[in-house]
Amino acid sequence: MSNLNSILEVANQHAMNVIKPNVDQWVEQVKWPLDASQKAGEVGLLGLYCPEELGGQGLSLGEGIQVYEQLGLADGAYAFALSMHNICSYAICGYATDEFKGEWARDLIAGKKLANFALTEPQSGSDPVNMYTTAKENSDGTYTLNGAKAWVSLADVADVYLVVAKTSEQKGHKDMAMFAIPKNSKGLSFGPMYQTPSYSFLPMSEMYIENVTIPKENIILPVGMGLQGSLMAIDIARVSIASGCCGLMQTALDTALRYARDRKMFSKTNLQLDGIQWMLGEVDTNLELSRLIYKKAANALGTPEGSLLAAKAKLFVPDAALKAANVCTQVLGGMGLLKEYGLDRLSRLAQMLKIVDGTTEIQRVVIGRALQKRAESLEPITIPKGFGEK
Ligand SMILES: Cc1cc2nc3c(=O)[nH]c(=O)nc-3n(C[C@H](O)[C@H](O)[C@H](O)COP(=O)(O)OP(=O)(O)OC[C@H]3O[C@@H](n4cnc5c(N)ncnc54)[C@H](O)[C@@H]3O)c2cc1C
Repeated sequence: MSNLNSILEVANQHAMNVIKPNVDQWVEQVKWPLDASQKAGEVGLLGLYCPEELGGQGLSLGEGIQVYEQLGLADGAYAFALSMHNICSYAICGYATDEFKGEWARDLIAGKKLANFALTEPQSGSDPVNMYTTAKENSDGTYTLNGAKAWVSLADVADVYLVVAKTSEQKGHKDMAMFAIPKNSKGLSFGPMYQTPSYSFLPMSEMYIENVTIPKENIILPVGMGLQGSLMAIDIARVSIASGCCGLMQTALDTALRYARDRKMFSKTNLQLDGIQWMLGEVDTNLELSRLIYKKAANALGTPEGSLLAAKAKLFVPDAALKAANVCTQVLGGMGLLKEYGLDRLSRLAQMLKIVDGTTEIQRVVIGRALQKRAESLEPITIPKGFGEK
């Protein structure tokens, strides 16, 4: 078995044996399942893109991103959190100083420590350039950071946060850099946890950064690269979300198929009704398309087409997942609303995945800009004679 096939099998086992049987309990307990994420590390799911000599899997982005489809079969929020951790471990293995990498990489890959990425601020989500968090260089080369981040996933659970900050008064993004702030840093604190009923085990809150001083070894991306690096991270996150959504869609579809196969009505089964087959046939077709677009986008990451394809995958797939979860609920009739079938929760997860790491509307903005660029490169169009002459 290739390394990719074996890691996909491991991810499937993790989904079926660790996530699926426990996720309802995690939601009730409102607590991140640290034992589960530690297990994920032990079986190799937390250093997907990191070099093998540090304990990672050494997979390409195009390969590793497929892991989230397996995890998404059981839970999209857990898959999302692991995808963010993997993006951070990738950034640390690829760009951190040797000192920082030496201290953190192995533990992050092994699941002994967790990482997350903090870009969003209370006043800015879709528009990250409107950033207030600052990092001031001190005479000894250390940096002192001040500001607040919002919607920080794995808040107070992750051991280190990759934070983007402005290093001058200059407008725009050219002065931004990315810093690693360990959780135990003096001056770092968290606000009250957000209340999210459907995936309450994923802790999220604001993060307050008050005179937090970090050594220069904690610079992950230098001045000028902070936003650019974040956008690359977000492209990876967008495709990872699309991958996770495919797992979610497969679970919704299979739940509807199992129910409709057994539900008797009008002297046959629900699944023998044409209308039901058409509804589920559309879900299945969208799932096929979703797999094609996320895999194409995953393989294009890092190339000139990467961002645009990531935007297309993030536009299409979570939306298709939300529709799939709703259609599959409809197929079960009233039973679709019961907690036991999990479809209501899949709808809420898909809705969340439409928002996080760039909303559906922001993907339209990205695609619209690319279309405008293409339009500029096209020959002028000829207007038929007689139009607009007066
Ligand atoms: C579950 C969850 C986890 C998250 N985890 C993290 C994390 O770990 N780290 C992190 O940094 N961030 C995180 N985020 C933040 C997330 O990336 C933002 O929520 C997202 O980018 C949207 O920003 P916003 O919520 O501020 O919405 P806003 O930017 O305020 O947007 C509000 C509405 O306006 C629309 N809109 C914005 N611009 C346009 C436009 N030009 N045209 C049309 N409509 C527009 C949006 O689509 C949206 O519908 C998380 C969010 C969620 C929900």
